[in-house]
Amino acid sequence: MVGPLIESGHQLGEIPMTTAFDAIIIGTGQAGPSLAKRLAAAGMKVAVVERKLFGGTCVNTGCIPTKTMIASAYAAHMARRAADFGVSTGGEVIVDMKQVKARKDLISGRNSKGVEKGLRDAANCTVYQGHACFISPKEVSVGQEVLASERIFINVGERASVPAMPGLDQIDYLTNSSMMGVDFLPEHLIIVGGSYVGLEFGQMYRRFGSEVTIVEMGPRLIQREDEDVSAAVKEILEREGIHIQLNAKCISVGRTGNTITAGLDCTEGSPEIVGSHLLLAAGRRPNTDDLGLDQAGVTYNKRGYIGVDDQLRTNVPGIWALGDCNGKGGFTHTAYNDFEIVAANLLDDDPRRVSDRILAYALYIDPPLGRAGLTEAQVRSSGKPALIGKMLMTRVGRAVEKGETDGFMKVLVDRETKELLGAAILGTGGDEVIHCILDVMYAKKPYSVIQRAVHIHPTVSELVPTMLGDLKPL
Ligand SMILES: Cc1cc2nc3c(=O)[nH]c(=O)nc-3n(C[C@H](O)[C@H](O)[C@H](O)COP(=O)(O)OP(=O)(O)OC[C@H]3O[C@@H](n4cnc5c(N)ncnc54)[C@H](O)[C@@H]3O)c2cc1C
Repeated sequence: MVGPLIESGHQLGEIPMTTAFDAIIIGTGQAGPSLAKRLAAAGMKVAVVERKLFGGTCVNTGCIPTKTMIASAYAAHMARRAADFGVSTGGEVIVDMKQVKARKDLISGRNSKGVEKGLRDAANCTVYQGHACFISPKEVSVGQEVLASERIFINVGERASVPAMPGLDQIDYLTNSSMMGVDFLPEHLIIVGGSYVGLEFGQMYRRFGSEVTIVEMGPRLIQREDEDVSAAVKEILEREGIHIQLNAKCISVGRTGNTITAGLDCTEGSPEIVGSHLLLAAGRRPNTDDLGLDQAGVTYNKRGYIGVDDQLRTNVPGIWALGDCNGKGGFTHTAYNDFEIVAANLLDDDPRRVSDRILAYALYIDPPLGRAGLTEAQVRSSGKPALIGKMLMTRVGRAVEKGETDGFMKVLVDRETKELLGAAILGTGGDEVIHCILDVMYAKKPYSVIQRAVHIHPTVSELVPTMLGDLKPL
């Protein structure tokens, strides 16, 4: 169907045909495809625009491929530890990086194809492949075409930040995206950034067999976490042979033959690191700089994140922003929850809000860190009277049986309401166990609900009630 002719944003004599839709969705990350299908199923004529890979970051260059490769790295690690369990592997453990990548490509590719097929097969849904850019508050250009709608949903995600650094334009650096094409073992991987992405790649490649150096400009790794969590994670990674240089800012890079040299501004340790490859894992930035937001009048902050209200509406009526680009989440589950919030408000007369969400996420090093709610530092600085419980994983029977006793569990409770304020579970199964705490936080019930629950033996979760039975004033 051909829509009304709209002139704005185009030179006279070049007026393209405009196609009108009930809804336009820009980006097929973790919110867009589900929203497209819900709106289309509700009878709306929907356009979905994707400029690159269907499924976005999580499916192609983020969660799914990295967790698939982390599984390969874990297999290698456990094979090397086989003798600890009375198992013989018959010699050196060999990692075939081409096979590792092929397995990752298969799992990731299947997911991406599934997202694309789901959209193409959906009734009332038209898929456009190309870069979408606003030309007015109600129009988006895609190549030579113009799409118009009263409702436009932005789900454009983020990409790796590339810091301005002398010499960077002279070398082939890697990001989380280009790492997906690596099918060989880097001899020595230098990683700039000691946060979630850097640590996951660091441990993974160390286990594949690379030498790994992580350069972090702050005084500790994963600085958003409590100091005891950062310290335990550092110890775990260093024990595996990863070099970690803290308080070190990478200020220049250069290549000599097959080696890359990173120049550091640091007070201790070597001011120069020599490696074979460089991975930039120093933060993310939203894909909003080439979206034409100014033509639409949509406001964003100085880092490029789009401003939204509690129901994810931007300042322009009829334009919403979901997922990483609104700066309110940064995870796959928060992007998907953004879809649920928008769909509930638009289609179900259910006033769901972003502020109903409790912060929760995992760091997928081994052992993983599961996190929910406030950190201990945040509770302390709030001045709220609180209780704390802590237990080393060496006391958890299941961890001992599995031979995976690194880490600890920590929980914080409001001393007056008895409600759970937050938790960190760094230990085997920590990414799963955290949910028993998270669900009770959502239920707004006192911690005694978990403390009195009978958990299955032998599990890590079994010790959560025990930990809650031994709370101390913070
Ligand atoms: C290495 C790594 C590991 C991660 N691991 C985890 C994890 O384990 N768990 C977790 O919860 N999160 C993880 N994340 C974060 C997670 O991937 C993101 O939070 C999630 O993908 C965000 O989804 P989104 O819908 O906001 O956008 P994205 O998934 O980034 O999708 C945005 C889409 O929009 C498209 N697009 C952008 N601009 C335009 C345009 N102008 N026109 C058309 N299309 C456009 C892009 O091509 C992309 O396909 C990880 C991220 C990285 C980098």
